[in-house]
Parts: sequence; C-alpha cells; structure tokens
Amino acid sequence: MTHRKKICIHCKTKYYYQASGHGCDDELNDDKYCPECMGAIVDALKSIPVKFEEIDTDASDEVTYKELLAIRKKCTNMFIRIRMPLFDMSTGDYQNNIQIGDYWLSEWEKSPEYTITKSIRVHKGTKTPEDKNVVYTTPKTLLNPKKTYPEKREEPYFVGVQPMSAPVGLTYALKYNYKDQGELDG
Ligand SMILES: [Zn+2]
Repeated sequence: MTHRKKICIHCKTKYYYQASGHGCDDELNDDKYCPECMGAIVDALKSIPVKFEEIDTDASDEVTYKELLAIRKKCTNMFIRIRMPLFDMSTGDYQNNIQIGDYWLSEWEKSPEYTITKSIRVHKGTKTPEDKNVVYTTPKTLLNPKKTYPEKREEPYFVGVQPMSAPVGLTYALKYNYKDQGELDG
C-alpha cells in the first residue's frame, strides 16, 4: 500500500492519496483532488448518464485462429491482457480468454468451441457502434477440429485453476497452455 502526500489542486488542502493496495480504487481517492472536492465532482457527475460502453463484436472474418497464434508466437514482448475464465463444472473444462493484438481469442482448454472477437465502442444500451463504419455482429462460435468435447462427469465439480499473477504466471500460461494444441487450417 503506497500513500503519497498531495495538495488538492482546487482547495489546496493537504491530503494523502493512496496509489496502491486495498481501497485505492475508491471513487474519492484521487491524485489531484482531496476527498471533499472529489465528492463534489462525483455528485455533480451523477446527473450525467454514461453514454458509451465497450462490447465484443465478431472478428473471425478478419483474422484466423492460425494467424492469431502466429502473431502471438512472433510478439513475445507484446503486452497481453487476459480476462477471467469461464468454467464448465460438469466437465471440469475452462475457457482461456487472451488478447492478441487488437483481438480476443476465447477458447476452451478441452472443448472445440472458440470465438475471435474485438472490442468496439457502442452507445450504451442500444449496441449501436459509435463509428458508423463499424458493424456489431454477435460473436460466432467456431470449432477446432483437433479437439473433442470432454465427457460429462456424474458429479459436477470445480476444476482447480490457480490464479495467475502477471507477468511470470502469464508467460508460463502462454508457454504451456498453447503448446501442442495444433493449428487450424485457413
Ligand atoms: Zn480540495
């Protein structure tokens, strides 16, 4: 947990800004305004609705699975984000969500289903893209012919997946999760 002494740029009061650790995402914890001024700003903004949001659109006609794996192999130093995986308790399978360049590859560890998407900005609620040249398409579920569906278990159970900490855990995950999975044609 890191605290830094600051002077509020509006009322000039001295305050502590918390730069890391539990509580640093509190809406009144700001590196420019003291909690009192920040409270006034947050209250004022409540009357303005959020107008845009980011959603995933299908991108499987822009890039193939094979091309994504090739990009990932080439760019070992690329900044890669991951998202929380989904779990299938009936089979113990889980989904890897990894950002490669502009795209998200979401694939099940064992099942053949995968999607290729990218994030676009849309008007909140209506899914109308902000950019008129962009079209929103529901992500298509594609099938990796090299994988087969795992058998369902009689007793559903949770698969034990260790939370990973970047960058060491992520490097490990990328190196070992994608090893020997084969490549798709096309
Ligand atoms: Zn202030």
